[in-house]
Amino acid sequence: MGNWEKSLKSVEPYVPGEQPSFTDMIKLNTNENPYPPAPGVKKLLREIDTDMLRRYPKVDSEELAKGLAEEYGTDFRNVFVGVGSDDVLGTAFLTFFKGKKVPILFPDVTYSFYPVWARLYDIPFETPALDENFRLVKEDYYKPNGGVVIANPNAPTSIAEPVSVIEDIVKHNPDSVVIVDEAYVDFGGETALGLVGKYDNVLVVRTFSKSRSMAGLRIGFAIGSPKLIAFMTAIKNCYNSYTMNTLSILCGAECLKDRAYFKESVDRIVNTREKAVKGLEELGFKVLDSSANFLFATHKSVKAREIFNKLKEKHIFVRYFAKPRIDNYLRITVGTDAEMEKLCAALKEILG
Ligand code: PMP
Repeated sequence: MGNWEKSLKSVEPYVPGEQPSFTDMIKLNTNENPYPPAPGVKKLLREIDTDMLRRYPKVDSEELAKGLAEEYGTDFRNVFVGVGSDDVLGTAFLTFFKGKKVPILFPDVTYSFYPVWARLYDIPFETPALDENFRLVKEDYYKPNGGVVIANPNAPTSIAEPVSVIEDIVKHNPDSVVIVDEAYVDFGGETALGLVGKYDNVLVVRTFSKSRSMAGLRIGFAIGSPKLIAFMTAIKNCYNSYTMNTLSILCGAECLKDRAYFKESVDRIVNTREKAVKGLEELGFKVLDSSANFLFATHKSVKAREIFNKLKEKHIFVRYFAKPRIDNYLRITVGTDAEMEKLCAALKEILG
């Protein structure tokens, strides 16, 4: 090994769910939406004047940030957009937590990208344990900290905490930035957006990847006080002025216009979710109370890893985490009714 190599920091990357390319598969492993994006997006892409792609995109992603401000009843200056909410969260960690001497806090069972960003930026962190029912223990966040990150609804548990719990944590942390990751909130959780006007240290992060069916375009955003957003924008502009591409900006803005379609596809998924819970319970699974577009389930007698592997042989992909506390659970994205019926039929075969 040359000296140049020895001096490099070794990192432990986040491992996303597989993206297999079988034509006959049922893909329920990355919480994608089974329905297409709003029809206006297809029309826009068909009719787009490609000549505009000669130009750099607008640095402030104007059409999209303005669309979001209108949709969420806020001002353009309260909105930050990024390349999926991973980019937004990564920028927030870099902006608000890098250099902290006191550990930042997030639960032991939560989105597994948080520790990856913390290690990447040398941010100390602690992970207070969720209780035995995977519920947040708010008192664990009362101690001095460098920042707080809460996914609500949480992943991979699918459980939502009431916004009163989030507000309580915010009230106990006037000197920290509190990030609320609402990737799944449209499927049933209570939003913390109402806290943004009351507390200038709350950052709510959302995505177009789940409820808006646009994981492939990579659009995420944050809503927070103009001060928080200005800090994030300055940091972003220190590494890449043009994170958002023109097509994402325009398609994202277009998607926001179709509220009826948005509501309809979210409602369909919630409906399917409730049916799928019943189907899984009949097969002997315990399913946590989901407010998201996925289910977190454990079987009374067969090990999750075994079920995961057997489903995979049938080209049905779900997510399995070989991690403490959750290594006997499967995270199953809610697909269409037909996909969930096929999943239950396959599980019936596997479970005998
Ligand atoms: N937050 C949570 C809790 C997630 O599960 C995900 C999806 N992996 C993300 C953020 C990031 O999603 P995206 O970058 O596609 O917006």
